[in-house]
Amino acid sequence: MKNNILIAILLLCCTIQAQKIDPEINSLSETLESKVIEWRRDFHQNPELSNREFETAKKIAKHLKDLGFEVTENVAKTGVVGILKGDKEGKVVALRADIDALPVTERADVPFKSTVKTTFLDTEVGVSHACGHDTHIAILMGVAEVLSKHKDKLNGTVKFIFQPAEEGPPPGEEGGAKLMIKEGVLKNPDVNAIFGLHINSGTPVGMIRYKPGGTMAAVERFVIDVKGKQTHGSAPWTGVDPILISAKIIDGLQTIISRESPLVDEAAVITVGKITSGVRFNIIPEKAEMIGTVRTLDPKMRALIIRRMNEMVPAIAKAYGGEATITFQNNTSITYNDPKLVKQMLPTIQGIAGKENVILSKATTGGEDFSYFQEVVPGFYFFLGGKSPDTKKAASHHTPDFYIDESGLVLGVKVMSQLAIDYLNAQ
Ligand SMILES: [Zn+2]
Ligand SMILES: [Zn+2]
Repeated sequence: MKNNILIAILLLCCTIQAQKIDPEINSLSETLESKVIEWRRDFHQNPELSNREFETAKKIAKHLKDLGFEVTENVAKTGVVGILKGDKEGKVVALRADIDALPVTERADVPFKSTVKTTFLDTEVGVSHACGHDTHIAILMGVAEVLSKHKDKLNGTVKFIFQPAEEGPPPGEEGGAKLMIKEGVLKNPDVNAIFGLHINSGTPVGMIRYKPGGTMAAVERFVIDVKGKQTHGSAPWTGVDPILISAKIIDGLQTIISRESPLVDEAAVITVGKITSGVRFNIIPEKAEMIGTVRTLDPKMRALIIRRMNEMVPAIAKAYGGEATITFQNNTSITYNDPKLVKQMLPTIQGIAGKENVILSKATTGGEDFSYFQEVVPGFYFFLGGKSPDTKKAASHHTPDFYIDESGLVLGVKVMSQLAIDYLNAQ
């Protein structure tokens, strides 16, 4: 008897915790699966680089217009925004997909392999969707179709954001999430929350990985200019050696990580990736340049590390009789999953994928420009499995052998559709 009561309580808890997918959303998503795959293959065969997604954008806009959406084109150059109003008034939820490809020549053996070539930074390159953004477009187009047929289930508005240039605009151009926000994508109607996903070649199909708080890193690029005094290599005491100063700076910067950063809170990285100085063996040169990156997952640590780098670089140079300056350029902010939003929406994801397939995972020190949206509104960004059960070691993103098992896409359609419905209905 006691056991029966316990089982009844447990069952009740489970039904409350894991919201089930709406059967109509489930079956329509499954009906659309072949269409989603077809779209994905078309985008895959016709990849376009960041800020050059002209044909991609046209296809997206046509699809949204055919569904009867209010559509705005050319947002942040090639972005497309579609608005779907539910039958009832309410909040506004945004769903985002990035749409750009990469200068990577595809080697994966698929019938819809990309053979596109273009010129990138004066070099001829192959172009392919080596990060899987083709799957993101197809999934979100599927979600648009699912929700357009179920406006009765929406207590509010869904804003579909198809974002160009996630991989970064070409040098000298603006682009990506930052430019979309600048052009007002989160306003009119004002967005209350945003959801996004990234396919992952290393996560098995059917699984979803997530992390509350910092899930991907803020990416800063820095340049350090060191000034010494040129002299003969045989008589260093008659000059100031910028190479030696650079070595001391590199050493000093690493102590900001190893001795000043609370590494139990989050990981952090400083990397000097390039150092240039000098012309020959017997000349102490006048200057040196170092270029590198900082990766952080916690806003406080990010501020601390940048402040200390700004203090340390000129101070070390001064200690050795030289001068040094440091400048930062921010490439992405912290992809920060709002803990309250994650807690609220996790049951939806678990209900669809199955609790055992939704994995709490570690942060990564890669960056993602979805982070800029999350600086403005609460957001939740997670990873969708795209690895075949028969793949032993998956090729990583941005490589020629990158491969995604398309049977993973339909879960993305279901989850994104249901997230929009449940978020709007929870108010
Ligand atoms: Zn990428
Ligand atoms: Zn990507």
